[in-house]
Amino acid sequence: MKLVWKLTIFNTFIVSITIITLFWTFYGSLKAALIKAQQVHLKNIVKLVETKGARWSPATRRFFVKVNENVLNDPYGIAAKLPDSGGIFKIGDEYYMVVMVTRPQRKVIIAANVTPLINGFQSMATTALITSIIGIGFSFGIALLLSSYSLRPLKSLLNDLKKISGESLSLRLGVPKSGDEIATLIKEINSMLDRIEQAYRAQERFVHDVSHELRNPLASMKGFIDVLKKWGIKEKEIFEEATSELASLVEEMSQLVDNLLILAKPIELELKKTSVAKLVREILKNLRIPPRIMVKLEGDAVVSTSPQHLKIILKNIIENAVKFANSLVQVKIEENHIIVEDDGPGIPKEEQDRIFERFYRVDASRDRRTKGHGIGLSIVKELSEKLKIKITLESQPGKGSRFILSWGEKA
Ligand code: ADP
Repeated sequence: MKLVWKLTIFNTFIVSITIITLFWTFYGSLKAALIKAQQVHLKNIVKLVETKGARWSPATRRFFVKVNENVLNDPYGIAAKLPDSGGIFKIGDEYYMVVMVTRPQRKVIIAANVTPLINGFQSMATTALITSIIGIGFSFGIALLLSSYSLRPLKSLLNDLKKISGESLSLRLGVPKSGDEIATLIKEINSMLDRIEQAYRAQERFVHDVSHELRNPLASMKGFIDVLKKWGIKEKEIFEEATSELASLVEEMSQLVDNLLILAKPIELELKKTSVAKLVREILKNLRIPPRIMVKLEGDAVVSTSPQHLKIILKNIIENAVKFANSLVQVKIEENHIIVEDDGPGIPKEEQDRIFERFYRVDASRDRRTKGHGIGLSIVKELSEKLKIKITLESQPGKGSRFILSWGEKA
């Protein structure tokens, strides 16, 4: 059932109950008061009869009067039909109110014709019933109007929401000036849409960047495969060069895919006491270090961390240092810091924040000499935030770079 009908029925129900209770309480009390007044009046007549005896004044002549078994006055001709008790009785088409007073010596019965009074009650009841029905109908109409008026912003909210899709994510809902709960709800939906749009755009950018990064190596691989098809069988030299290029492209792509998987997976930390020097040694063991580069490792610290994730952070930073260094890479492990330093080209000040963005590489022409996709440091940033490690970069073009990893407390 639609909300507007639920609200209308509920409001009508409340108003109807109120109208019926008010009308019928008023009717009931008025009826009781008038009957009481009539009874008191008749009891006064009894007193008059008792004090004046059986003598009739004009005031008493209008009523039926019976003392003991003697009917003293019967203007209505009802003596034979009147019951021997008090109350209101219908005799023929007329209503009579009978008051009976019993004394030790006598019993006085007075009866009055109350037909106009009872008819008045009946027409009052009919009026009350008709007015109640009209009132209920009227309140239904008003409740329907009010409910549809107050639900109007919800209707337009629904229409606006239907217009929002992946292609029109920047559409926002109009906030009514009412300042009520619906306005607050719409503001909340708008800020939720902001967050969804941000995440959606980031995802879109990511997918775009990934496909862009994959396009170049795939095109090169296709080129080498064509070369192999044409000349590979006959010319050994071409065969060897093309297969070795293909192998390195495959290696490059599988590294990219590994990195993308790290970014795509939710990060679950399992903290363990870990020797940082041991981790660095493992990294260096699997790293291809050109003979011109010397790598020095100093110090050690045992920290409570996720070794798997700290290893990814250190691997990316050390790999970059080795890639860019001219001759020396130093890894210094202190109590609350790990410093990775190289004597490479350095990073210009204005680029230092940007290198932590996904797919960002400093200078395309400079970086062309070195392989990479600009993804390693974005992984470093994401993981170090999770591990609560602060990363500081000190670098000057021409003088090398120093990445400092620091954490607040030692394990
Ligand atoms: P990549 O895979 O290209 O190395 P990163 O995200 O690891 O991607 O690094 C982003 C960019 O930051 C690199 O392309 C390079 O330009 C710059 N960079 C990172 N580390 C160093 C460093 N030690 N010396 C000079 N430049 C660096």
